[in-house]
Amino acid sequence: MSYKSMREWMGILEEQGRLKHVKREVSTEYEIAAVGKKACGKYAVVFDNPKGSNMPVVTGLTGSREFFSKALNVPISELAPHFERAQANPMECRIIEKSLAPVKEVITEDVDLTKLPIPVHHEKDSGSYITAGVLVAKNPETGEKNVSIHRLQVTDKNHLGILILPRHLMHFHRIAEKKNQPLEIAIVIGCDPITMLSSQALTPIGQDEFCIASALYGEPMELVKCETVDIEVPAHAEIVLEGKILPNVRKPEGPFGEYPKYYGPRKDREYIELTCMTTRKDPIFQTIVPATNEHLLLGGIPREGGILQLVKNAVPTTSAVHLTPGGTGRYHLVIQMDKRNEGEAKNAIFAAFGSSQEIKHVVVVDKDVDIFNPIEVNWAIATRCQADRDVFIVSGACGNKLDPSTNDGLSAKMGIDATVPMEYKGTDKFRRIQIPGEEEIDLDSYLG
Ligand code: MN
Repeated sequence: MSYKSMREWMGILEEQGRLKHVKREVSTEYEIAAVGKKACGKYAVVFDNPKGSNMPVVTGLTGSREFFSKALNVPISELAPHFERAQANPMECRIIEKSLAPVKEVITEDVDLTKLPIPVHHEKDSGSYITAGVLVAKNPETGEKNVSIHRLQVTDKNHLGILILPRHLMHFHRIAEKKNQPLEIAIVIGCDPITMLSSQALTPIGQDEFCIASALYGEPMELVKCETVDIEVPAHAEIVLEGKILPNVRKPEGPFGEYPKYYGPRKDREYIELTCMTTRKDPIFQTIVPATNEHLLLGGIPREGGILQLVKNAVPTTSAVHLTPGGTGRYHLVIQMDKRNEGEAKNAIFAAFGSSQEIKHVVVVDKDVDIFNPIEVNWAIATRCQADRDVFIVSGACGNKLDPSTNDGLSAKMGIDATVPMEYKGTDKFRRIQIPGEEEIDLDSYLG
């Protein structure tokens, strides 16, 4: 890979005309989020002059599948399988000397978050939020690492509120809390796309997500030891905040505009105290505007990789999966397969439900349907599905708490088989209309 830091990736985007600078002064309250959201998918944007800070802000570094395709150097259709292969073949990281780590150029134990250009993103948000902070922690008993991204509310100059869903970090924190001990953490801001993507892998607990990043780079990722906590962080990042999640402390956090395009509610949640900040000498702050394609794809592509593997185990002729943007990159899954036996579509749907709690509605289509094109998927449902025969619903399963239609996370699941029944496969009844030669027509040569 030709980059190993966020700023090297920014350089590549700039060369290709996909990164723009906003030179005028902008407000960190709403204005950065509004411009970033409008540009997302077209351009990455650097705000050179945010009000109240001399640190630039960047957003939209991977705003579409095309950006990820460039970042991973594979075609769009290969993103999920490529990620899955890296996850199945992790590679160790390498720890380098502090003197060689750019993120150690400036070190301060007097952390003051109010000096950072941390945006307020949405109308009802409780305040400034760090949205692109890669959080690293270790299991207090085994030392196994976990890497994850959480919304982080700036509460004062050295405290953050955090939302921790019932996954790996929560497990680590509860182990520490039982002994009335804090859980040491580090929050890394300004990472490259590979690090960001790897942090979102659907891994078993104990698997180090950074080792997936190494596999994607094709060489060991370079980490460096923290100053005040026993944690290693990406050496080429922009900013590292060191600290601890306090035991038996909960403080109000939220509301916050989340990926389903609704607000997550205000509640008493875990609380972080910061002990140190290390940065480059001229750091760039990264933000991800919640619910944009950048946000949805960062979670969606690694999930697709994991889901593809599990659905393939159930039905080997599964060729692709897609978490749709309308389905928030989490709730709606489309599976493409070359069905060989009646009933396989339903088996694939069961496997998909088992792969991720968040999946809510699954559509299975045949191999001739482009699953990245919503018109094609809609057409398959319209013409290959009979609801009384092909749709089934399961009540009261575990879903996602951020989906406001669930009963605090208790959710129904629906499967839709939109594949042609085996008895009609290859017959004229389901033959797509086709104009011979249409594909080869060069329209411009006809229209002059
Ligand atoms: Mn994990």
